[in-house]
Amino acid sequence: MAPEKTAPATIRARLMELAELECLEPALVHRLDDTDLAACTGLGDEVLTAYLRALDAAAKMDAGMAPTGWTAARYCRLCGPVLLWPDCPPIVLACPWCFRRKAGRYVPRPLVQCADCVHFIRCERNPLGGGGDCSKGLGGHWPKQRHRCDGFEPVEDRP
Ligand SMILES: [Zn+2]
Repeated sequence: MAPEKTAPATIRARLMELAELECLEPALVHRLDDTDLAACTGLGDEVLTAYLRALDAAAKMDAGMAPTGWTAARYCRLCGPVLLWPDCPPIVLACPWCFRRKAGRYVPRPLVQCADCVHFIRCERNPLGGGGDCSKGLGGHWPKQRHRCDGFEPVEDRP
């Protein structure tokens, strides 16, 4: 009986040490209940660290912030422009923000520019540098003016 009571405390202590090494909030570990800790029984430090990083990423996304390292502007076909990890392809069919967006949560948007968007209507007199308009009615910008836009859709070469 004693080992069953001490095992979650032992795992919690190890998770606290790993969280400190990763500079992660101790609250991530404090929030775990005994069932969560029991599921960690027998896992190595590498897996536990990955678990803590995943918990940290989920907590940040729930708070409307991009997880650490998610600095790349990518396009999700369901969400529009989103921040994802740098190894991610430029266009994805779905993303980790999808279910949060559908649940009405805030999704931080990367900066985009109209010159890269299919909805940009270029100025006829100065197509490369003149101010343009938006076919979705989301406002006119300069082609290279970086701004946040939920309606951004990248120009892509389709076969
Ligand atoms: Zn998405």
